[in-house]
Amino acid sequence: MRQPLVAGNWKMNGSRAGVVDLLDGIKAGMGDVNAAEVAVCPPFVFIPEAAARLQGTAVAWGGQNLSTHGSGAYTGEVAASMLTDFGCKYVIVGHSERRTLYGEDDAVVAEKFEVARKAGLVPIFCVGETLEEREAGATEAVVARQLDAVLDRFGAQALGAGVIAYEPVWAIGTGRTATPEQAQDVHAFIRGRVAAKDAAVAAGVRILYGGSMKPDNAVELMAKADIDGGLIGGASLKASDFLAICRAANR
Ligand code: PEP
Repeated sequence: MRQPLVAGNWKMNGSRAGVVDLLDGIKAGMGDVNAAEVAVCPPFVFIPEAAARLQGTAVAWGGQNLSTHGSGAYTGEVAASMLTDFGCKYVIVGHSERRTLYGEDDAVVAEKFEVARKAGLVPIFCVGETLEEREAGATEAVVARQLDAVLDRFGAQALGAGVIAYEPVWAIGTGRTATPEQAQDVHAFIRGRVAAKDAAVAAGVRILYGGSMKPDNAVELMAKADIDGGLIGGASLKASDFLAICRAANR
């Protein structure tokens, strides 16, 4: 049985004071969350605050990105060891904003996946097609290419140490969500592609949906057989909304 995971991607949002309220709000509402594992991924500068406030609670924390390098002259970068030093469990790799705004290609994303995994972090590995690609009927080809960058280079066992997030780019931050059926189709495709390499890994790996998941659509999405939780952007910035999504996985 795969335990659902609901992870908040705060992106570049928040302030020192606001982050305290958000963390405390999430902590305070966790008593009603009975099934999902919960994690938050704040901007790097807020990770020490998250670590201090979430230590000993049921909420894990992680980074939104990491460097492929271990240390050295890489201005502005953050190493995997720095994330583990602050107790991070997770790190997001391959988010579409990193791919499109910062030019991270499949090879870089795969390298980040492996650097994270080897450091003991659990990579949340994002894949997903643009609207143009979906309309051209290329969704499966795009997602397969993105997945294979890790699968072919590092193998199914390595992939299974992470979490996959299917995030159709056209649904991220747009308020336009994939229907549960559209999402389930791609999730089943992803699981099938992993199964072709290793059935046991495919059965165990969690595949999150991301793209305008909100309290009012989370239950329907998470009810689908291959949707094992969510990667939440906008709705993770308000404790009550985030917690409502976490409760959508309750049993
Ligand atoms: C995301 O950025 O990973 C995301 C899913 O954002 P939103 O929930 O705002 O669409």
